[in-house]
Amino acid sequence: MVGTMKRISEKKGLAILRELKDTLAAEVHEGYEHRAKSCDVCETPGACCLDEHFVNVHISPLEGEAIIGVLEGLPEDRKVKVLRRVDAVIEKYGLEDGEDTFDKTYACPLFEKGTGCLVHGKAKPVPCIVHACYERKEDLPPASLTAEREIEVDELNRRVYGRRDAWLPLPVMLKRRAKI
Ligand code: SF4
Ligand code: SF4
Repeated sequence: MVGTMKRISEKKGLAILRELKDTLAAEVHEGYEHRAKSCDVCETPGACCLDEHFVNVHISPLEGEAIIGVLEGLPEDRKVKVLRRVDAVIEKYGLEDGEDTFDKTYACPLFEKGTGCLVHGKAKPVPCIVHACYERKEDLPPASLTAEREIEVDELNRRVYGRRDAWLPLPVMLKRRAKI
């Protein structure tokens, strides 16, 4: 039973999602990022994405679809490599084991040395757009910024798929959407 909610196509949903993320990125850039450390001078680039004790980014199905769309644009051999990494990460960190995935952390398979985040500017998850390294706690964007956008993304998923699906660790969602 879907109720009276007006459904939209996945294509339209992806376009709205992109707009929402672009707006968020601009908001973070203008309002907060200038007080954060610049990634250009980072001594450990990618530490934020590869820290297996820290990263626990979960994404919605529509975001999974957006990321798969970016991967589809890569040369076949590169895409295959990423998907292999996705599989290996799931295995290594046991991301499909147990009920509660929110206590699991992993090194993100979308980070590539030299390139950085493969979906930067195209399909980054909300917490990744908001994340930066701030020296002073008071300079951090409020947690509500992430929470509110994630609620909007969740609502958008509902409009596209007609139901509320669980958010999953990024690698698990990618595996399901890419059917690997
Ligand atoms: S977010 Fe922090 S750890 Fe990640 S690349 Fe930028 S400065 Fe380095
Ligand atoms: S999606 Fe991109 S920014 Fe987010 S953890 Fe993975 S590589 Fe880093």
